[in-house]
Amino acid sequence: MARYTGAVCRQCRREGKKLFLKGERCYTDKCAVTRRATIPGQHGKARTKKLSEYGMQLRTKQSARRYYGVLESQFAKYFDMADRKAGMTGENLLRILESRLDNVVYRSGLASSRKEARQLVRHGHYTLNGHKANIPSILLKAGDVVAVTEKSRSLDKIKSVVEANSSKPVPKWLDFDAEKLAVKVIDLPNREDIDLDVEEHYIVELYSK
Ligand code: SF4
Repeated sequence: MARYTGAVCRQCRREGKKLFLKGERCYTDKCAVTRRATIPGQHGKARTKKLSEYGMQLRTKQSARRYYGVLESQFAKYFDMADRKAGMTGENLLRILESRLDNVVYRSGLASSRKEARQLVRHGHYTLNGHKANIPSILLKAGDVVAVTEKSRSLDKIKSVVEANSSKPVPKWLDFDAEKLAVKVIDLPNREDIDLDVEEHYIVELYSK
């Protein structure tokens, strides 16, 4: 599947905020947004100005898409799914994005970023309900259990990731078992449980045109 292969920090600079795409580095002074908060490119400084209504809608959608590392077409599909569900479309959309396997791995501290989570999932380091799962976009539901495979538990890579994230708070909609290196989805999150600097109504307005 096609995916963005350019400089990761460039995406944060384009959105003018931290998208936390690089794990630990995002919390240090090395963060590109902390060092240089202008839009990338030759005329970046000049483009850092007040946005129009459409600009806000577009940038909000792009931010959300980049937070979760989802391509345009997949994001549009998620929006359709969200729109067909009962309730608030914007909240439904975020709930769907949060329920992705790679996001659950990241949120539980079994990876330092969604990008790393995606890579670890693809490499077959996790199981879903006891079965090998290597598709990052699988959507989880309440009761699902993700765990590090028996074979991968002893890998240095997994050990260092778990160690590095041991003090990271796990959202209350997930039940993380540090002994078993497993996480259970208690329930899908409500909006207030989702720590995301995005005003999702702009996305709904954009797709409703
Ligand atoms: Fe974004 Fe992290 Fe790079 Fe900072 S370090 S610009 S938050 S990806």
